[in-house]
Amino acid sequence: MATREKPLKIGLLTSGGDAPGMNAAIRAITLAAAHHKLTCYGFHHGYNGLINQDYGILAPDNVTNIIHQGGTILKSARCPEMMTQTGIKQAVSCLIKENIDALIVIGGDGSFNGMLAIQDHWQGKLIGLPGTIDNDLDGTDFTIGFSTAINTAINAIDKIRDTADAFDRVFVVELMGRHSGHIAFNVGVACAAEQIISFENFDPLAQEAKLAEIIADIEQQKLNKAHSYLIVLAENLWPGGAHSLGEALKQQGNIDVGICVLGHIQRGGSPVAKDRILATKLGVAAIEAIITKKSGIMIGECESKITHTPLTKTIQHQKMVNDDLVSIHEDIFKIGNH
Ligand code: ATP
Repeated sequence: MATREKPLKIGLLTSGGDAPGMNAAIRAITLAAAHHKLTCYGFHHGYNGLINQDYGILAPDNVTNIIHQGGTILKSARCPEMMTQTGIKQAVSCLIKENIDALIVIGGDGSFNGMLAIQDHWQGKLIGLPGTIDNDLDGTDFTIGFSTAINTAINAIDKIRDTADAFDRVFVVELMGRHSGHIAFNVGVACAAEQIISFENFDPLAQEAKLAEIIADIEQQKLNKAHSYLIVLAENLWPGGAHSLGEALKQQGNIDVGICVLGHIQRGGSPVAKDRILATKLGVAAIEAIITKKSGIMIGECESKITHTPLTKTIQHQKMVNDDLVSIHEDIFKIGNH
């Protein structure tokens, strides 16, 4: 008589910065797991959930009414213990003790490094889902959360533009993105920013030249009787950030500058349709990958097709902001305030 195979046990966690759409992915994974009769466990607070053996079963009832919620019902966290061999071994011990067959991690490049560390000590299957607002993972056109984050930033900046216009004022708005310019450049273009200072078009060594260029440009705009002047700045790029840039414009150009560091508002809020749908497709594909015995990969979507990319290749930061977009802003639209 043929022996019946034990149902696979899946572990799931969300790690690193939370991203809108993580809940939609959790829901999709849970429902697809239930469909294929797999057991799904949700580990809480990122990798801390493995280290502290803090988890609960994820059944369809647990994921009702979450697709529209930002954040993550599993909670997320940074987990410094994972940067140590002791922490990695504790995480692996938990997976072995709980007889987990496959672990799905939704997160960014740091979280994927965590999976690679686990991979050295564990035989189970490892699947990554790109969940970060930064869009800085290779192997997927978009990460879960990016579309919502840029829409949130655009909505906020449209409001800033109104008040800047009322006072004919210069504003510097600093956006998130860690070390990638996807958020800054896309939002800058979508908000018709007069200046976008991002990783694609700015070298911090050329700071003084850029300052002089901006001051001259603002003077020219005044002569043209243009209104507000918006500078979108990527975080971790200008030495000292938006406040330092604003201060330099004031000191060197006698310009009154409003400053806004948009910050965590970019992480929150209900995910837009694009993130909900992407998260749903990737979540279901993650379970299908486990069933077909794949491991060490990230599930992504390129040109509307599901893709499998080795985890090691997803964290190389090769994916740049689209050249056409950079060229539109830098070359074609450099004709004054519009
Ligand atoms: P985001 O960039 O969107 O915030 P992320 O996943 O890149 O997401 P990180 O804070 O870089 O966020 O990483 C999340 C967690 O992954 C860390 O707190 C740590 O637990 C784990 N991690 C990061 N790098 C490593 C590494 N080199 N080895 C083991 N674990 C790591």
